[in-house]
Amino acid sequence: MFEMVQAASRSFYIQSPAKIGVMLGEDNEVSLLDSGSDKDAGRKVKKILDAQGWKLKAIFNTHAHADHIGGNRCLQPQTGCCIYSSGIECAFARDPLWEPAFLYGGNPPRYLRRKFLMAQESEVQPLEPEALSPDWKCIPLPGHAFDMAGFRTPDGAVCLADCLASEATLAKHQVAFLDVEDCLATLDKVKGLQAGDLRPRPRRCLPGHRAAGRAQHRQGARDSLPHRGHLRISSQLRADPEAPLRRLRPCHDLGVARARGQQGAILILLGLRTRTKAELRDNMLCWHR
Ligand SMILES: [Zn+2]
Repeated sequence: MFEMVQAASRSFYIQSPAKIGVMLGEDNEVSLLDSGSDKDAGRKVKKILDAQGWKLKAIFNTHAHADHIGGNRCLQPQTGCCIYSSGIECAFARDPLWEPAFLYGGNPPRYLRRKFLMAQESEVQPLEPEALSPDWKCIPLPGHAFDMAGFRTPDGAVCLADCLASEATLAKHQVAFLDVEDCLATLDKVKGLQAGDLRPRPRRCLPGHRAAGRAQHRQGARDSLPHRGHLRISSQLRADPEAPLRRLRPCHDLGVARARGQQGAILILLGLRTRTKAELRDNMLCWHR
């Protein structure tokens, strides 16, 4: 963990629980794609950059989940770097209380305000086109989060954020999506990286929670979370809408908030496709068609 690996001529990544992209620009200035999960990650990243003699100019947060923005607070005061994130991810990253509040659906209890779900605040700006080098490309990847974005650098590295996940990540966290249909559309887009609308072929794909590789987007897109998770959970929900809650391990602090989010995403999809509706009956929330 926390070793820097070269991905393309001027692109690197730091292997950590959520990969951190390091893109070398002119005059030894670098931009990060995400910043790690907490201040310890931030410290380790700073040490790596210092060892290379590189100055941190900007952080581009792919989305506002705590494991991707947690190093912001440590790195920004030390380096004066600018931090950018796209769309509503900017608001979530600026005020990280939104994340547990959104998932929980209310004022989140203390156990949901820990670093796994809630990063520390940082000064994040909206990602406008002029913030990016003209030869970079921002790739919208919605579904896992509202406005998740990937990035393509001129040397052919493509950061895919969390639209793909490894088998180990799937086994540990099960599914993680905000909008199933957006997730599926994003996977179609990622599969097209080689032959579709994002030519030329990437030299190296960098998913946040999956091994880096040239063809990872194709393999990952076939078996990744939304396809499998959608099929499994939507069939369960047809028979038993509370099933995801019962499958959670006891005392899994984050499980309740996460399950509510997943269940909401699936129910929205079922509502769109099968006209499933939620209704209060005798003070019980019921779903019916
Ligand atoms: Zn994420």
